[in-house]
Amino acid sequence: MIQENIIAINKELPPEVKLVAVSKFHPAEAIREAYAAGQRRFGENRPQEFAAKVEALKDLDLEWHFIGHLQTNKLKMVLPYAHLVQSVDTQHLLDAIQDWGKANGRVVSILLEMHIGAEETKQGFKEEEVLDILFRAEKFKNIRFCGLMGMASHTDCEEDIRADFARISDFFAYLRDLFPELSDFKELSIGMSGDWKIALDYGATIVRIGTAIFGDRQY
Ligand SMILES: *Cc1c(COP(=O)(O)O)cnc(C)c1O
Repeated sequence: MIQENIIAINKELPPEVKLVAVSKFHPAEAIREAYAAGQRRFGENRPQEFAAKVEALKDLDLEWHFIGHLQTNKLKMVLPYAHLVQSVDTQHLLDAIQDWGKANGRVVSILLEMHIGAEETKQGFKEEEVLDILFRAEKFKNIRFCGLMGMASHTDCEEDIRADFARISDFFAYLRDLFPELSDFKELSIGMSGDWKIALDYGATIVRIGTAIFGDRQY
Protein backbone atom coordinates (compact mmCIF):
# COMPACT_ATOMS: atom_id res chain seq x y z
CA MET A 1 0.00 0.00 0.00
CA ILE A 2 2.75 2.44 0.92
CA GLN A 3 4.24 2.31 -2.55
CA GLU A 4 0.87 2.72 -4.26
CA ASN A 5 0.04 5.68 -2.03
CA ILE A 6 3.28 7.45 -2.87
CA ILE A 7 2.84 6.85 -6.58
CA ALA A 8 -0.74 8.17 -6.45
CA ILE A 9 0.28 11.32 -4.56
CA ASN A 10 3.20 11.98 -6.89
CA LYS A 11 0.83 11.81 -9.84
CA GLU A 12 -1.09 14.79 -8.49
CA LEU A 13 1.78 16.72 -7.02
CA PRO A 14 3.36 19.35 -9.28
CA PRO A 15 7.01 18.36 -9.83
CA GLU A 16 8.35 21.46 -8.08
CA VAL A 17 6.50 20.70 -4.83
CA LYS A 18 8.51 18.64 -2.36
CA LEU A 19 6.86 15.70 -0.66
CA VAL A 20 7.93 15.01 2.92
CA ALA A 21 6.67 11.58 3.94
CA VAL A 22 5.83 11.83 7.64
CA SER A 23 6.90 8.48 9.08
CA LYS A 24 6.40 9.18 12.80
CA PHE A 25 5.12 6.18 14.79
CA HIS A 26 5.82 3.87 11.84
CA PRO A 27 8.76 1.45 11.83
CA ALA A 28 11.95 1.84 9.84
CA GLU A 29 10.73 -0.94 7.53
CA ALA A 30 7.88 1.30 6.39
CA ILE A 31 10.46 3.89 5.37
CA ARG A 32 12.35 1.26 3.39
CA GLU A 33 9.14 0.45 1.54
CA ALA A 34 8.61 4.11 0.71
CA TYR A 35 12.23 4.35 -0.38
CA ALA A 36 11.63 1.52 -2.84
CA ALA A 37 8.92 3.71 -4.41
CA GLY A 38 11.47 6.47 -4.89
CA GLN A 39 10.70 8.55 -1.79
CA ARG A 40 13.77 10.20 -0.22
CA ARG A 41 12.42 12.92 2.09
CA PHE A 42 11.07 11.89 5.47
CA GLY A 43 9.73 13.82 8.45
CA GLU A 44 9.74 12.91 12.13
CA ASN A 45 8.43 14.86 15.11
CA ARG A 46 10.11 13.32 18.18
CA PRO A 47 13.87 13.68 18.71
CA GLN A 48 14.44 10.18 20.09
CA GLU A 49 12.55 8.49 17.28
CA PHE A 50 14.21 10.77 14.73
CA ALA A 51 17.70 9.82 15.96
CA ALA A 52 16.86 6.11 16.11
CA LYS A 53 15.58 6.07 12.54
CA VAL A 54 18.53 8.06 11.23
CA GLU A 55 20.79 5.42 12.76
CA ALA A 56 18.71 2.43 11.58
CA LEU A 57 18.54 3.75 8.01
CA LYS A 58 21.98 5.23 7.56
CA ASP A 59 22.64 2.88 4.63
CA LEU A 60 20.03 4.83 2.59
CA ASP A 61 20.47 8.29 1.04
CA LEU A 62 17.63 9.99 2.90
CA GLU A 63 16.81 13.65 3.47
CA TRP A 64 15.53 14.09 7.02
CA HIS A 65 13.13 16.81 8.09
CA PHE A 66 12.29 17.55 11.71
CA ILE A 67 8.70 18.71 12.12
CA GLY A 68 7.92 18.52 15.84
CA HIS A 69 8.47 20.27 19.12
CA LEU A 70 12.19 20.52 19.81
CA GLN A 71 13.45 21.08 23.34
CA THR A 72 16.77 22.84 23.54
CA ASN A 73 18.34 19.95 25.49
CA LYS A 74 17.67 17.62 22.53
CA LEU A 75 19.34 19.64 19.79
CA LYS A 76 22.23 17.26 19.35
CA MET A 77 19.87 14.38 18.56
CA VAL A 78 18.42 16.32 15.66
CA LEU A 79 20.58 19.11 14.28
CA PRO A 80 23.54 17.06 13.00
CA TYR A 81 21.20 15.03 10.77
CA ALA A 82 18.32 17.32 9.80
CA HIS A 83 18.31 18.75 6.30
CA LEU A 84 15.61 21.17 7.46
CA VAL A 85 14.13 21.90 10.89
CA GLN A 86 10.60 22.94 9.94
CA SER A 87 9.27 23.60 13.41
CA VAL A 88 11.19 26.44 15.01
CA ASP A 89 8.49 27.98 17.13
CA THR A 90 10.11 30.08 19.86
CA GLN A 91 12.75 32.77 20.10
CA HIS A 92 14.43 30.66 22.78
CA LEU A 93 14.79 27.71 20.40
CA LEU A 94 16.09 29.97 17.66
CA ASP A 95 18.78 31.34 20.01
CA ALA A 96 19.74 27.83 21.09
CA ILE A 97 20.05 26.65 17.46
CA GLN A 98 22.24 29.66 16.68
CA ASP A 99 24.50 28.81 19.66
CA TRP A 100 24.69 25.15 18.60
CA GLY A 101 25.49 26.11 15.00
CA LYS A 102 28.23 28.46 16.10
CA ALA A 103 29.76 25.91 18.50
CA ASN A 104 29.66 23.16 15.86
CA GLY A 105 30.66 25.17 12.80
CA ARG A 106 27.34 24.52 11.08
CA VAL A 107 24.66 26.59 9.40
CA VAL A 108 21.26 25.14 10.26
CA SER A 109 18.41 25.44 7.76
CA ILE A 110 15.09 26.20 9.40
CA LEU A 111 11.50 27.22 8.78
CA LEU A 112 9.68 29.48 11.21
CA GLU A 113 6.50 27.75 12.34
CA MET A 114 3.52 30.05 12.41
CA HIS A 115 0.34 29.74 14.37
CA ILE A 116 -2.37 29.78 11.70
CA GLY A 117 -5.02 27.33 12.93
CA ALA A 118 -7.93 28.09 15.20
CA GLU A 119 -6.70 25.84 18.02
CA GLU A 120 -5.52 27.65 21.14
CA THR A 121 -2.82 25.12 21.88
CA LYS A 122 -1.14 25.00 18.52
CA GLN A 123 2.37 26.31 18.79
CA GLY A 124 3.94 28.82 16.48
CA PHE A 125 4.85 32.45 15.98
CA LYS A 126 2.52 35.34 15.35
CA GLU A 127 3.13 37.58 12.35
CA GLU A 128 4.72 40.37 14.41
CA GLU A 129 7.12 37.89 16.01
CA VAL A 130 8.24 36.61 12.62
CA LEU A 131 8.81 40.18 11.45
CA ASP A 132 10.80 40.96 14.57
CA ILE A 133 13.04 37.92 13.97
CA LEU A 134 13.59 38.56 10.26
CA PHE A 135 14.54 42.20 10.84
CA ARG A 136 17.37 40.75 12.97
CA ALA A 137 18.09 37.82 10.63
CA GLU A 138 21.66 38.80 9.88
CA LYS A 139 22.57 38.44 13.56
CA PHE A 140 21.85 34.71 13.30
CA LYS A 141 24.98 33.85 11.37
CA ASN A 142 24.55 30.10 11.84
CA ILE A 143 20.93 29.95 10.79
CA ARG A 144 19.60 29.83 7.25
CA PHE A 145 16.04 31.15 7.15
CA CYS A 146 14.33 29.04 4.47
CA GLY A 147 10.68 30.04 4.90
CA LEU A 148 7.51 29.33 6.85
CA MET A 149 5.65 26.27 8.09
CA GLY A 150 2.05 26.15 9.23
CA MET A 151 -0.76 23.78 10.13
CA ALA A 152 -4.32 24.70 9.19
CA SER A 153 -7.18 24.37 11.65
CA HIS A 154 -8.16 20.78 12.33
CA THR A 155 -11.61 20.91 10.73
CA ASP A 156 -13.67 19.56 7.86
CA CYS A 157 -14.71 23.08 6.94
CA GLU A 158 -12.82 23.77 3.72
CA GLU A 159 -13.52 27.49 3.95
CA ASP A 160 -11.71 27.71 7.28
CA ILE A 161 -8.76 25.75 5.93
CA ARG A 162 -8.60 28.03 2.89
CA ALA A 163 -8.67 31.10 5.13
CA ASP A 164 -5.74 29.75 7.18
CA PHE A 165 -3.69 28.93 4.09
CA ALA A 166 -4.53 32.25 2.42
CA ARG A 167 -3.28 34.16 5.43
CA ILE A 168 0.10 32.42 5.68
CA SER A 169 0.50 32.49 1.91
CA ASP A 170 -0.12 36.25 1.74
CA PHE A 171 2.23 36.84 4.66
CA PHE A 172 4.90 34.68 3.01
CA ALA A 173 4.66 36.75 -0.19
CA TYR A 174 4.84 39.95 1.84
CA LEU A 175 8.00 38.73 3.63
CA ARG A 176 9.66 37.76 0.36
CA ASP A 177 9.10 41.31 -0.90
CA LEU A 178 10.22 42.88 2.35
CA PHE A 179 13.41 40.84 2.75
CA PRO A 180 14.80 40.24 -0.75
CA GLU A 181 18.27 39.81 0.81
CA LEU A 182 17.11 36.56 2.41
CA SER A 183 17.77 34.58 -0.75
CA ASP A 184 16.98 31.19 0.82
CA PHE A 185 13.57 32.28 2.09
CA LYS A 186 11.67 30.25 -0.53
CA GLU A 187 9.76 27.48 1.19
CA LEU A 188 6.14 27.46 2.26
CA SER A 189 5.43 24.19 4.06
CA ILE A 190 1.66 23.79 4.28
CA GLY A 191 -0.61 20.84 3.65
CA MET A 192 -1.00 17.44 5.34
CA SER A 193 -2.95 14.28 4.47
CA GLY A 194 -6.35 15.94 4.72
CA ASP A 195 -5.61 19.27 3.08
CA TRP A 196 -2.55 19.05 0.84
CA LYS A 197 -4.53 19.47 -2.38
CA ILE A 198 -6.00 22.69 -0.99
CA ALA A 199 -2.53 23.84 0.06
CA LEU A 200 -1.37 23.63 -3.56
CA ASP A 201 -3.81 26.44 -4.39
CA TYR A 202 -1.91 28.64 -1.93
CA GLY A 203 1.59 28.11 -3.20
CA ALA A 204 2.80 25.24 -1.01
CA THR A 205 6.38 24.33 -1.91
CA ILE A 206 6.52 21.51 0.66
CA VAL A 207 3.69 19.19 1.73
CA ARG A 208 4.01 16.94 4.80
CA ILE A 209 1.99 13.77 4.38
CA GLY A 210 1.80 10.93 6.90
CA THR A 211 -1.49 9.06 7.17
CA ALA A 212 -2.25 9.14 3.44
CA ILE A 213 1.04 7.32 2.83
CA PHE A 214 1.61 5.07 5.84
CA GLY A 215 -1.94 4.62 7.17
CA ASP A 216 -3.18 5.34 10.68
CA ARG A 217 -0.69 5.76 13.48
CA GLN A 218 -0.77 3.46 16.54
CA TYR A 219 -0.01 5.83 19.41
C1 LIG B 1 2.03 14.38 11.90
C2 LIG B 1 2.31 15.63 11.16
C3 LIG B 1 2.01 15.74 9.79
C4 LIG B 1 1.36 14.64 8.98
O1 LIG B 1 0.02 14.50 9.35
P1 LIG B 1 -0.96 13.56 8.50
O2 LIG B 1 -2.30 14.13 8.79
O3 LIG B 1 -0.79 12.18 9.05
O4 LIG B 1 -0.58 13.66 7.09
C5 LIG B 1 2.36 16.92 9.15
N1 LIG B 1 2.92 17.95 9.80
C6 LIG B 1 3.23 17.87 11.11
C7 LIG B 1 3.88 19.04 11.75
C8 LIG B 1 2.92 16.73 11.83
O5 LIG B 1 3.22 16.68 13.13
